[in-house]
Amino acid sequence: MTGGFVFSEKPIQIESGEGAYLYGEDGTEYLDFGASYAVASLGHSHPAVTEAIQEQAAKLTYVQASYPVDVRTELYEKLATLAPGDADNVWLCNSGTEANEAAMKFARSATGRSKIVATKRGFHGRTLGALAMTWKDKYKEPFEPLAGGVEFVPYGDEEALADAVDEETAALFLEPIQGEGGIHPASAEYLRHAREVTEEAGAALVFDEIQTGVGRTGDLWACEGVGVEPDILTSAKGIANGLPLGTTLVKDWIAEDPGDHGSTFSGGPVVCAAANATLDTVVEEDVPGHAAAVGEYLRSELEAAVDEHDLPVREVRGVGLMIGIQVKRGANRVLKNLALSEQILALPAGRTVVRLLPPLVIDERHADQFVDSLVEVLQ
Ligand SMILES: *Cc1c(COP(=O)(O)O)cnc(C)c1O
Repeated sequence: MTGGFVFSEKPIQIESGEGAYLYGEDGTEYLDFGASYAVASLGHSHPAVTEAIQEQAAKLTYVQASYPVDVRTELYEKLATLAPGDADNVWLCNSGTEANEAAMKFARSATGRSKIVATKRGFHGRTLGALAMTWKDKYKEPFEPLAGGVEFVPYGDEEALADAVDEETAALFLEPIQGEGGIHPASAEYLRHAREVTEEAGAALVFDEIQTGVGRTGDLWACEGVGVEPDILTSAKGIANGLPLGTTLVKDWIAEDPGDHGSTFSGGPVVCAAANATLDTVVEEDVPGHAAAVGEYLRSELEAAVDEHDLPVREVRGVGLMIGIQVKRGANRVLKNLALSEQILALPAGRTVVRLLPPLVIDERHADQFVDSLVEVLQ
């Protein structure tokens, strides 16, 4: 019998990584413009994170979450300080989907209601609760029945939101910028409206910042950029720069009655050490500010290249270093050519969007390298 992964792998074998680059077994250098699903936010194997992991692993690799340890307490305090508004009560878990499961459970428990409102094209994860709030049928159909009581509204439609969020609603789940659904930023007015209708109905406003968070959009959290405070904020992906961590930050009124929830690996010391090092670096080096500046440069260079070379691109959109390039023909062919001919790795978002989520530490040279390669591939 030959062992293998259930799902297909790409024909590129990676052995090591440093900064914005991954290296193949044969020494080939790949520019990782997906940051491996936005996880390598500070670049691959960032030295400060590696050192924190090594030190903590040698000291204490794991202890059950009911015994306080300094490294976890430090992370609780850091997240409370960095949380938007007063969503400063912290739940730690091991992935994005689990952070959303917790958000769903906490909101139901705190409100005593069950209905959830989510958005068309939205993505919240693959476990049966988060999957129920995810839009795409392809992800859901083989696994039904999912958690019930989810109503979907078109993203960006204020009226539909006002109609759907009612006295039976426990929570409204929103990505401030839809990621997997094709890089669609919400307007500030829409997010403000979401704040108003949830407040009026007594429902929790949940921002899923699993992809947008930790500096990617030019602010630490995308909701800060538009000045809207959620009741619950979920994060994961880049928050521990490669180790599995999900966080659910909640306001007091949710934390007062969260029900009973738990996870054996919640807040393991090594993961907490990696997150502390990541967050310290993000804050001390103003990584969000850097992402805003380089993102602006990359977007304008992309737009200029599309015009100059008359490239088959319908639109370039996004905020900070979360950028979607909507191409006229299939995105997968573009991605394959970028990888195999130009040694640049990026991600799809649906059939026609090339999604860029590069490490937040890239500079203008990396941006130029990407734009030149894209021109090569699309011409
Ligand atoms: C990736 C993602 C998730 C799921 O996170 P996992 O760690 O893969 O479970 C949820 N929501 C958004 C917006 C995401 O981008």
